[in-house]
Amino acid sequence: MIIEGQIVTGADFRSLEGRVVVEDGEIVAVEATPVESEDIVFPAFVNAHTHVGDSIAKEAGRELSLKSLVAPPDGLKHQLLAESSREDQIAAMRRSLSFMQSGGTATFVDFREEGIAGVAALHEAVAGLDIKPVAFGRGDPTVLDVADGFGASGANDGDFAASRAAAQDAGKPFAIHAGERDASDIDAALDLEPDHLVHMVYAESAHLERVADMDIPIVVSPRSNLVTEVGLPSISDLRKYTTVALGTDNVMLNSPSMFREMEFVAKCCELTDPEVLDMATRAGTEVAGQQGGIIEEGEPARLVVLDGESDNLVGARDPVRAIVRRAGRDDIKHVQLPANN
Ligand SMILES: [Zn+2]
Repeated sequence: MIIEGQIVTGADFRSLEGRVVVEDGEIVAVEATPVESEDIVFPAFVNAHTHVGDSIAKEAGRELSLKSLVAPPDGLKHQLLAESSREDQIAAMRRSLSFMQSGGTATFVDFREEGIAGVAALHEAVAGLDIKPVAFGRGDPTVLDVADGFGASGANDGDFAASRAAAQDAGKPFAIHAGERDASDIDAALDLEPDHLVHMVYAESAHLERVADMDIPIVVSPRSNLVTEVGLPSISDLRKYTTVALGTDNVMLNSPSMFREMEFVAKCCELTDPEVLDMATRAGTEVAGQQGGIIEEGEPARLVVLDGESDNLVGARDPVRAIVRRAGRDDIKHVQLPANN
């Protein structure tokens, strides 16, 4: 298969007029050559942090404080989950996953509540779709029998030493939220030597030096941080120490659209457009434990093809800037994934 247009290629996300040649789900060549097509081709997204399990509670509780919305066990989110059937929850998750897939996301890293049953529900919801789940389960460490990793809520919420050790024994990653509301849980989270951290809004330089020493990627979810009123992380500072990936966090709080997350980050946070695109693609593959995320020979062919002549994108003079700041799901012509994505 040959895909032509403006190709966003390499780890520096430069655009090049030419074509990508794909065979058996792998990129076998990226060639610079004059082409007729105005399409724009870039690596498919990795949504590096989601909670799709609360898809059932989208836009609930406008009048409520965040605490009365999400705090366990009586927050509205938990009431709505308790009142809904397993089938309805799975159906709601499936709609979110379908939306993510058609919006150019090839892989998502989900923190799944409810132990083994929660992970099983996610697997049911994703069955038959082309989007790849990386499920971080929680609860009893036996969740690691079915999950791809262990995803802890936060170091102030309990003792996660046993879960951490169990993940190590299972050869699976351990990840944890840290520094979302304040810095009080960051050192304890780092003591667990996690494979990735989520949020780090309140990270200080001493924390980040530990992060750099241990080479731990961080996932940020800036739109979620605004909804939960914790403020924004200093993403450019975090990037000085480690890999930073982008996730959309709880479906109940934000639409799981990587286009929306990228546009927001590009406009709020003093990053270059290639840096933002890196966070939404290559950096996420590191968190997901995958290869790829860039368009280069030998990489898996997970590609999004945008219609560069859509009413929205026609005439855009900088393809990377157009992807990051302007494009949306309506501009997608095609998402190319390997058969076994
Ligand atoms: Zn989270």
